[in-house]
Amino acid sequence: MLGGTFDPVHLGHLRSAVELRELLNLDRVHMVPARLPLLRNSPQVSARQRLALLQLGIGDTPGLIADGRELEREGPSYSADTLASLRDEYGADARLIMALGHDAFLRLTEWHAPQRLFELAHLVIIERPDHQALLSTALRELIAGREVDSPESLMQRPAGSLLRVALATRMAVSATGIRQRLAAGQSVRYLLPEAVETRIMQASLYQRH
Ligand code: ATP
Repeated sequence: MLGGTFDPVHLGHLRSAVELRELLNLDRVHMVPARLPLLRNSPQVSARQRLALLQLGIGDTPGLIADGRELEREGPSYSADTLASLRDEYGADARLIMALGHDAFLRLTEWHAPQRLFELAHLVIIERPDHQALLSTALRELIAGREVDSPESLMQRPAGSLLRVALATRMAVSATGIRQRLAAGQSVRYLLPEAVETRIMQASLYQRH
């Protein structure tokens, strides 16, 4: 699972999902937009629109799924609940992974039930070139004893470990940067898939009117 606000989806998300799938030999990567993200300001674009942009961005990419399950649940989007529903679907023995970028990982102790995440899944942390801050003491305590150093060790069990990965293509692309560019009338070409850019322009999303 790669959760996020996807406000909007960009090549940093999509390329990471493809490379993660290859590196870990994953059957599928569920990309799950949050309905109501808790730890940030409300997105300007509706959850339905963010999901539609994600579907356009994924297109026919093998193994990537635009997964709208958080949009169907009432109330806040807790990753623990999403992982629990994936666990129900795939069964107790499936190796389940929650992937997140280093910036999101730094705030993990603020999430709902962070210990429970490790009961349900492994965590894989993706390096981002523009985010390199150190871990807090609380975060180091949360992950103590869980870190493994290879995909093979991670895949020996269904859940409970943590792996940090430096994917082949690390991109300093962020949705914040894209929203700022759109609001300023600057080009976002090659930062997101063409179909996503076209839809954004057609629907005048993220632009100042
Ligand atoms: P924003 O700038 O609005 O905070 P974002 O670009 O970080 O957005 P999110 O939707 O918040 O995008 O990210 C979803 C997940 O994808 C998070 O775990 C985030 O760390 C990760 N991610 C986002 N951009 C990249 C990138 N360029 N490379 C690797 N991981 C990324």
